[in-house]
Amino acid sequence: MYLFLFQLSSLKGRICLTLKVDYVTHSLCLRCASLGLGCCSRCRPFILVEDLRLLLRKHSLGKVKEVVEVGEIPTIYLHHLLDPEMAQIYYFWNGVYYRLQTRFVNGACISLFPGKGCTLGDGRPLICKVWPFWWRSGLKPSKDDFPLVINGDCTMATLWNMPIEDILKEFSLSESVIRKQLLTLNKALEEHSKTLKEAMKKNIPPNMLLDWLLKSIL
Ligand code: SF4
Ligand code: SF4
Repeated sequence: MYLFLFQLSSLKGRICLTLKVDYVTHSLCLRCASLGLGCCSRCRPFILVEDLRLLLRKHSLGKVKEVVEVGEIPTIYLHHLLDPEMAQIYYFWNGVYYRLQTRFVNGACISLFPGKGCTLGDGRPLICKVWPFWWRSGLKPSKDDFPLVINGDCTMATLWNMPIEDILKEFSLSESVIRKQLLTLNKALEEHSKTLKEAMKKNIPPNMLLDWLLKSIL
């Protein structure tokens, strides 16, 4: 058993073996988290302007600032810079790429609360709502019949080889619901990219970017 866990820990060289089993509800996510592979403690969700709007509908400005930060691109996401879709979330300033993301505290997303799951509920970021589903690379979703794929390294797909149909079932999601959410995310990515270009033109430094964005939508 320990050997098994050790082998898992070396997967991609960045997985910790914390046994946080009390914050996820889907049974397979629970198993995944028990192996230290849970995405809420392993990924850094990006935040878009649309996410800020959704957060502000349910939470105070203070709470939003508590959850969201502008940070330098995490090393695990350097490959995003080569991907035109993902590159849209980055803000280039003085030779460094920044992005809006949820804060990480004690090795997990700040919104992950033991025993309660994600404290943001429906206000959680769009990327968290669609994860691990995506559209096929290069085929931007425009209508509601595009092919779905599993993006990133969700344990259900990578370790347990589950087909997309079974993963949808695990989350009790239909293809049409997830496609709608992906269309929303795609639109939000485009809007975010335009807004960042505007900020760039106005010479907004990264440490002022969050306040500038919040002011522009309030
Ligand atoms: S969504 Fe995938 S990576 Fe995240 S906790 Fe569930 S099984 Fe693990
Ligand atoms: S915002 Fe919620 S769902 Fe997303 S990573 Fe954080 S805790 Fe998990």
